[in-house]
Amino acid sequence: MLRINGLKMKLSFTQADLLSACVRKLKISPDMIKTLTVYKRSVDARDKNDVHFAVTADITVKDENIVMQKAPRGACMPVKPYAPVAREKLPAVPEMRPVVVGLGPCGLFAALTLARAGACPIVLERGEPVEKRHRTVETFFLDGTLDEDSNIQFGEGGAGAFSDGKLTTGIKDPRCREVLHTLVEYGAPEEILWEGRPHIGTDKLPATVSNIRREIERLGGTVLFSTKLISIHTEKNVLRSVTIQKGLEKQEIPCEKLIIAIGHSADDTQKMLFESGLDMVRKPFSVGARIEHPQSLINKSQYGKFASSPYLPAAEYHLSTRLSDGRGAYTFCMCPGGTVVGAASRKNAVCVNGMSAFARDGENANAALLVDVRVEDFPDEHPLSGYALQRVWEEKAYRAGGGNYKAPCQRVEDFFLNRDSSHTGNLVKPTVKPGVTPGNLKSVLPDFAYKGLQEAIRNFDRQLHGFAHPDALLTGVEARSSCPVRSPRDAFGEGSIRGIYPCGEGAGYAGGIMSAAVDGIRGAEHVLRDLKDAR
Ligand SMILES: Cc1cc2nc3c(=O)[nH]c(=O)nc-3n(C[C@H](O)[C@H](O)[C@H](O)COP(=O)(O)OP(=O)(O)OC[C@H]3O[C@@H](n4cnc5c(N)ncnc54)[C@H](O)[C@@H]3O)c2cc1C
Repeated sequence: MLRINGLKMKLSFTQADLLSACVRKLKISPDMIKTLTVYKRSVDARDKNDVHFAVTADITVKDENIVMQKAPRGACMPVKPYAPVAREKLPAVPEMRPVVVGLGPCGLFAALTLARAGACPIVLERGEPVEKRHRTVETFFLDGTLDEDSNIQFGEGGAGAFSDGKLTTGIKDPRCREVLHTLVEYGAPEEILWEGRPHIGTDKLPATVSNIRREIERLGGTVLFSTKLISIHTEKNVLRSVTIQKGLEKQEIPCEKLIIAIGHSADDTQKMLFESGLDMVRKPFSVGARIEHPQSLINKSQYGKFASSPYLPAAEYHLSTRLSDGRGAYTFCMCPGGTVVGAASRKNAVCVNGMSAFARDGENANAALLVDVRVEDFPDEHPLSGYALQRVWEEKAYRAGGGNYKAPCQRVEDFFLNRDSSHTGNLVKPTVKPGVTPGNLKSVLPDFAYKGLQEAIRNFDRQLHGFAHPDALLTGVEARSSCPVRSPRDAFGEGSIRGIYPCGEGAGYAGGIMSAAVDGIRGAEHVLRDLKDAR
């Protein structure tokens, strides 16, 4: 197979147009090409007068050597077609089955990898299966009834289940391709294989996630919902068993291989692990608010006169700046055509995030607008003190929202003037559920973030016209874009306790769905190697 990079295609390009572009670039005749597929397609909107797609295509040809000889130097390169990773199976189901805690992207892919290798994992998930969880979340959206074990953060699919399902990542790891292909195999839209900025959408994620879970069960794994890891038991720093709880019932199960994939919100479990001897260190994170604009404003700013093209997806943005106090500020997890989500998992604490459907066809665009939180900002040197900070800000947001999990919001103009908002303005209809309470985010944010966001919004307005619109709406508080703690691990993937493999976002080794899934696969590979005693 040959890969051809850098094909500039008009927005309405067809397969025939793509074939012509390949033929022109390689200087070959069309009948030499047997198959032609898009490998990657991205919008190039750097020049607003020439918005187009940048395409990478894969072709198979009758004779690769002849094509390589005819083609101008560098016009194409030979590549191998995707093939699933062949991992060696265990000779038998281990006497003591490995346990995976958490069924977010990390735990899901860890468990699938273990199950495919014949390790029959036991998976613990404190939240509900995705369909039931959906109903629990709907109730929360309706009347603010929060279930602390099953909510936007906790339950089958983890924090990513109610999201935009963005699969973009900064990591370069061959396992990323494996994750994409696996997601498609279990029901995700095929487009994620070739879109430059792939996303699944909150409407398509649940089915995909539960199809993977069913496959884990079919391969001999056991998935226990509404079941929480509550303690671990060690001897001479080696894991021997874990205690789990479902309702009022507790059970101790022998366990010597434990993948911890609990995400960034389970501060109770982090505390239990730390107090049981697992090393942890403080980790910088970020704090800020969600900002909402009409999607049409973002489309216009990003696509110029092409904004109404039916071929273009809802426009995205990613902005970053260095503030005058030296901190970084940036936008994160931008959700085109999406909604802001009340993402609470703690009682009397409000936090927000964002999600969108696959079609990304909602009226508004939203993104997290964040400022760095450094370890020097932490109240003390305790490894879990970042959680204390998060809690303070989220509880302030709860109070500013007036209770019942309504999120405090403020118009950008009022945010600049440090003036209470008395209404939500005329530009955007706020999307967050259970609702918003107009007010002043200064009372919620730490001073460095309040000032930092003001400066950042002004800077970003120079990069994206309209960003600082007086009626753009800020909703707070967002302090869970990443985990405030890391569990150090050795070259074999183990934490400071033998037999514990801290993985994913909660261990501080991932930031998003894709990197969490990849880290889950990596964790499972470590466990499989150790089950075979092959260090
Ligand atoms: C609303 C929202 C939108 C997001 N959008 C995106 C996006 O578009 N793209 C992206 O890349 N990222 C997004 N993220 C972030 C992404 O979801 C996380 O980075 C990712 O889910 C982390 O994966 P994980 O498996 O490490 O942890 P999690 O997904 O947090 O999963 C951890 C799981 O462990 C379970 N658990 C915790 N403690 C215990 C215990 N003691 N016993 C049993 N189970 C336990 C939890 O219930 C949870 O299900 C979003 C997050 C949210 C909240």
